[in-house]
Amino acid sequence: MLLIKNGRVLDPASGSDAPRDILLDGDRIAAVAPAGQLDARAKGAEIFDAAKFIVAPGFIDLHCHLREPGGEASETIETGTRAAAAGGFTAICPMPNTRPVNDNASVTRSIVERAAAVSPVRVWPIGAASIGSKGEALAEIAAMKEVGIVAVSDDGRPIANAKLLRQIMDYCRALDLPVIDHCEDSSLFAGAVMREGKQSVRLGLRGMPAATESLAVARDVQVGELTNCRLHIAHLSARASLELVRSAKAKGLPVTCEVTPHHFTLTDEDVQYDTRFKMNPPLASREDRDALIAGLADGTVDAIATDHAPHEAALKEVEFDRAAFGITGFESAIGLGLELVHAGKISLMRMVELFTAGPARVLGMQRRVAENDPGDITIFSTDVPWTFDVSKTASKSRNSPFDGRSFRGGPVATIVTGKIVYRREG
Ligand SMILES: [Zn+2]
Ligand SMILES: [Zn+2]
Repeated sequence: MLLIKNGRVLDPASGSDAPRDILLDGDRIAAVAPAGQLDARAKGAEIFDAAKFIVAPGFIDLHCHLREPGGEASETIETGTRAAAAGGFTAICPMPNTRPVNDNASVTRSIVERAAAVSPVRVWPIGAASIGSKGEALAEIAAMKEVGIVAVSDDGRPIANAKLLRQIMDYCRALDLPVIDHCEDSSLFAGAVMREGKQSVRLGLRGMPAATESLAVARDVQVGELTNCRLHIAHLSARASLELVRSAKAKGLPVTCEVTPHHFTLTDEDVQYDTRFKMNPPLASREDRDALIAGLADGTVDAIATDHAPHEAALKEVEFDRAAFGITGFESAIGLGLELVHAGKISLMRMVELFTAGPARVLGMQRRVAENDPGDITIFSTDVPWTFDVSKTASKSRNSPFDGRSFRGGPVATIVTGKIVYRREG
């Protein structure tokens, strides 16, 4: 048994924000009650003193890359999930663009089994939508679902063919799985390394316009409407895309979206020739960034997702044009979310929702602090100062633009199935 005492418990699913003690027994939440009321029942339990901390349902990351199998020089399931635990995440969804691609049940099974052996957090794989994510033929979606995928995506690439997208969505509608699309029009993307704008001209780097993303979002929403399949837009970065999601939601369509911490924090003005600022979709304009923050606040955005994309040094320590797209993201996510809270852009409850009930809803699940629910809890501070030192990361890769950034508040402890899997030192 584990008794979390004296914390301020925030539970977006019920809207409650109150001092509570939580008793975990086995892998479940046994009781939630006002301070002191569980002491007698918790005799002999391990005590975690959460005074001065926020206690929340376990954080979920809908979008990450663990690189295993095939890319173990950049990350493994073991190192990636340890970094996730250190970032406060209790469940993460790895994308299928491994080598081989996770497009069949045997690859899914190997990921699930490896995670069961080495991961401190829950690993909910996302299966490929098409074989090899090549955009030609349907992957073995039903067989992968039996083994545990929670969604399908060809992330890393868009599903370029609208007819295939329709087939995938018809199929996933029947299986009740969301389709997650990396929205990108490849003809506009070709050869680009950052967002098109004043800064790309100034740096002499090839840019892609915001429409690279929003054109694909418009198409997806319409194909989604044909099939009534759940559609989730990955790493949404442009105001025009957000407006499409907003109007789809207003029509009652099952469309959701996620935004990454780097897209709500940085802009294309931050891009110099430093490859730690190269990711796809690229950092957007200031107007886009401000629109994303408004979407996080008003409910248009459903989840904050990291798109944790580790790359070994050899793939990043090259000239900007040749560097791989992507940055690591688990350990800086809560700190960056809290920057929005401290700046008065979103409420603390809303931030917690974007990491818990929001992503859970995208997957058709619930995330609450309630009796008999899974014993997954994220404890964080809103004010303890700390500095992100990427040399101490649990990830195998160091490609973060937030190395050396000072934060006010961050992860304190991560509890999965009733056990403390991460605890901040000091
Ligand atoms: Zn992507
Ligand atoms: Zn991704």
